[in-house]
Amino acid sequence: LEQKLRHTQKMEAIGQLAAGVAHEFNNLLCGILCNVDVLLNEKPGTLPPEIQLALEDVRSCGRRGANLTKQLLTFSRQKAPDVSPIDINTVIRGLDRIIQQMVTDRITLDFQLDPELPSGKADRGKVEQAIINLARNAGDAMPDGGTLSVHTTCEQLDESRVSSFEQASSGCFVKMSIADTGCGMTSEIQKRIFEPFFTTKPIGQGTGLGLSTVFADVTHMGGGVEVESEVNEGTVFHIYLPTTGSVTNDS
Ligand code: ADP
Repeated sequence: LEQKLRHTQKMEAIGQLAAGVAHEFNNLLCGILCNVDVLLNEKPGTLPPEIQLALEDVRSCGRRGANLTKQLLTFSRQKAPDVSPIDINTVIRGLDRIIQQMVTDRITLDFQLDPELPSGKADRGKVEQAIINLARNAGDAMPDGGTLSVHTTCEQLDESRVSSFEQASSGCFVKMSIADTGCGMTSEIQKRIFEPFFTTKPIGQGTGLGLSTVFADVTHMGGGVEVESEVNEGTVFHIYLPTTGSVTNDS
């Protein structure tokens, strides 16, 4: 509960912060980037090498800042999910090529999609984004290759299993599991992965907004997220999405 509260408070604070300053900050970054471009393009080859390098550094930091601002704005402008009946298997199959391109060719993809899967009640765009975020993390966790599996199945949940969900719900859920055979996580890292801005990746490679977005989106759709991980063994994320057979109890 404490973790959920911290998560919600942090999300609200970020929403306000982003809405308030991101736009202004973007203008400032544009001012910096445009002027750096002018300097870099003015007289090609005439800049002393160390100045050229310094300016290129400014440009790459500025671009990273612009990228982060964009992600912050997307994060803070989270719209209420636009829920409709969707076939999760079709959504996954539609992302096959994107996932393939995202991970190295040393990674084997293994899809096992339950042909009997009921329709999920979910926002297609948000589900796609969640799969992409989870697949990207799985790819990052397996720099030397491995297997990325995506499984779907239908699971009957009772009240005791769904304590991690934002709203108490029970009944039939679509369960989508995204597993990797990568580096895994310690329990200390696992405790913090859904916090906005928590990342263990080097600067420029991780923003720490991927899993917090997945968590927020899935719980807003009335679903839940679970994680199991073993250091040097791998990680699996289970995403539960409601179906027409799920019962939500808002009280
Ligand atoms: P980012 O990928 O930008 O760091 P995320 O919110 O997506 O942000 O992930 C937060 C952290 O969770 C990662 O930095 C990493 O330490 C950990 N993590 C997420 N997915 C995995 C995974 N599949 N295997 C190992 N660690 C992971």
